[in-house]
Amino acid sequence: MNSSIILVVNAGSSSLKFSVFRVDDAGNLQLVVRGQMDGIGTRPCLKARNSTGTMLVESDFTISEVATVGDAISLVGTWLRERLQHESLLAVGHRVVHGGTQFSSPVLINTEIHTMLEQLIPLAPLHQPHNLAAIRAIREKQPQVPQVACFDTAFHRAHPQIADLYALPWEYYESGVRRYGFHGLSYEYITTMLPKIAPKIADGRVIVAHLGNGASLCALQAGKSVDSTMGFSPLDGVPMGTRPGALDPGVLLHLTNQCGLSSAELEKLLYQESGLLGLSGISNDMRILLESHESRAELAVEYFVHYTVKQIGALAAVLGGVDGMVFTAGIGEHSPVIRERILQACAWLGVSIDAAANVRGGPCISSADSRVSVWVIPTNEELMIARHTLALINHGKGGGQVE
Ligand code: ADP
Repeated sequence: MNSSIILVVNAGSSSLKFSVFRVDDAGNLQLVVRGQMDGIGTRPCLKARNSTGTMLVESDFTISEVATVGDAISLVGTWLRERLQHESLLAVGHRVVHGGTQFSSPVLINTEIHTMLEQLIPLAPLHQPHNLAAIRAIREKQPQVPQVACFDTAFHRAHPQIADLYALPWEYYESGVRRYGFHGLSYEYITTMLPKIAPKIADGRVIVAHLGNGASLCALQAGKSVDSTMGFSPLDGVPMGTRPGALDPGVLLHLTNQCGLSSAELEKLLYQESGLLGLSGISNDMRILLESHESRAELAVEYFVHYTVKQIGALAAVLGGVDGMVFTAGIGEHSPVIRERILQACAWLGVSIDAAANVRGGPCISSADSRVSVWVIPTNEELMIARHTLALINHGKGGGQVE
């Protein structure tokens, strides 16, 4: 008998990540395949694994075979169809970086919605076009398959207006210069896990640290975002692999007016050359920096810890105290050393760490007498997208919620 699957797509400028989830009779989602096409337009390579981690494919392609996101979608689609012949595709869920002020929840895509998403390209010019290219490519090939857009910004839309503002003349706010916040699908997933893993703090004041190559923190009050460290773009807040985090805007004026950087050079500097990579001069990868004995590698790690701790302090102030903390994403999930260094600096908040539990990876890594309970919870943005997609298809909420 045919079973139904949901495809989740996360399209970037040079890579296309995808996951397939099978929907069982009870409506539960089981991961079947996870993979990615890297090196689109440069050195295309398709890799995919099954749910137990067994490699299913590892193939190189030529640039002419995979020059664009659309080509990558075609190739991945062909590979998946051959592999999953007896499954029927229910819907495709996309990670879309920007939902602007209009979208505070996922939305079923139609022509009108697609146009609205295109109008948001100026807010996320480096990411949104690739997300939309994937949607368009699937629409052209399989127009009958429902597609759902799930936004990185949506989870934060309900934050208080004070967290949405910059102290600029009001017309800029009206024109969309706002603190949108990102990593919303990750934070939302964590809020769905808290009642199961850490029920005592699920309704309380929680700071979630999503520390990956991209990194941000979110202050949750009863599972809702009240503030976060990224703002108008994913550049603000804590330092990241190649992005600087918070930067005095005067530095940007200096770089353009005095140093003569063009806007393209500035963009490259801020998105690709700064952060851990820029400071260390060695790597954007925390693992490499932690193994290095170079003084600038050590300084980069210290900077990361210092400014993450500083932002935790700021969010703790916004929340008026903290009941729990959660670490997630690459560094948050896998680096006991970084967690320990951050948590030791948070002792003033009432955090006491259980060293052995931290080394084991939790889930609870605070000691029994800690005033703040601390958790390691692996994020799963793909599953969050699949859940949203299934819910929209089941409830037929065509058009979704548009404010
Ligand atoms: P992205 O933001 O690209 O989704 P991830 O959440 O996958 O990133 O995190 C990737 C980062 O996690 C890597 O760049 C690496 O620095 C870090 N990382 C992964 N494993 C470890 C580890 N064991 N120790 C320290 N850092 C790690």
